[in-house]
Amino acid sequence: METRATLNPEIIAEWGRRCAKSRRASRVPRYFLVAAILIASSLPLFGVVACFPYLLYVGVIAIFAAAMFPGAAFASLRCPNCDKVLISAGQIPLTPIDFCPHCRFWLIDPRGGAGT
Ligand SMILES: [Zn+2]
Repeated sequence: METRATLNPEIIAEWGRRCAKSRRASRVPRYFLVAAILIASSLPLFGVVACFPYLLYVGVIAIFAAAMFPGAAFASLRCPNCDKVLISAGQIPLTPIDFCPHCRFWLIDPRGGAGT
């Protein structure tokens, strides 16, 4: 059985606004994560790791958090139509989500128009 998504320009525009707001909100924490990665990766150059070996673990955790942060911030967004979270807890999307899996409304214009 084939199911089709519903196209509503207002939903697509609202989704674009929510994504932009999420990107703005996550900008500063992302800078802190990048700074933590740079600091953690430069510590072995100065011989600090020999004194504090646990700093390597902190660096690995910071890199992991930086890799997961964009997906985690995106996962908290709710569908403008049905107001449900798009992704279940613990899931990180590997591909962009272009429609809501709950109400099947397009979130990104499939014709390549406005959106995120
Ligand atoms: Zn929905």
